[in-house]
Amino acid sequence: MNTQFEIAKESKQPQNAAEGKNFKKVDLGSFTDLGKYIMENKELNMKNEGKLFLHDLLGLSGCEISLNYAPAGYKVPFKHTHKQNEEVYIVLKGNGVFEIDDEKINIEEGSVLKVSPDGIRTMENTSDTEMIFMVIQTKENSLEQFTLTDAQIV
Ligand code: ZN
Repeated sequence: MNTQFEIAKESKQPQNAAEGKNFKKVDLGSFTDLGKYIMENKELNMKNEGKLFLHDLLGLSGCEISLNYAPAGYKVPFKHTHKQNEEVYIVLKGNGVFEIDDEKINIEEGSVLKVSPDGIRTMENTSDTEMIFMVIQTKENSLEQFTLTDAQIV
């Protein structure tokens, strides 16, 4: 089964792709236009509006990152857990309510929230304005070194 999502033909498309020996870059445009991106999985006949995954776009090897747009009043229509990945939700704009294991937590611009793989999660934009957030997904306990133990001045 093909579980990957790709950017739909009718979607807004990333611009100005550039690639070098040690980098890949695209321009996504204003975050307030994230709602114009549509990702689809043709095999499962699923379309996801207002979501953009960066793993394939940038060839990420250690994490998945999504950028998300939730219109006013939008509620994620399912709850989910993960098999092995923890998620970090970073709210860039707007506010709403996050639910983990039946506990409700208010989130707003500037909120950062880590959810462990087993957390049963869903969320809702309870406000009357759009909500924009980023989700970073990485394998729990996989990071071996970071910042000063990993960066090298050259
Ligand atoms: Zn998830």
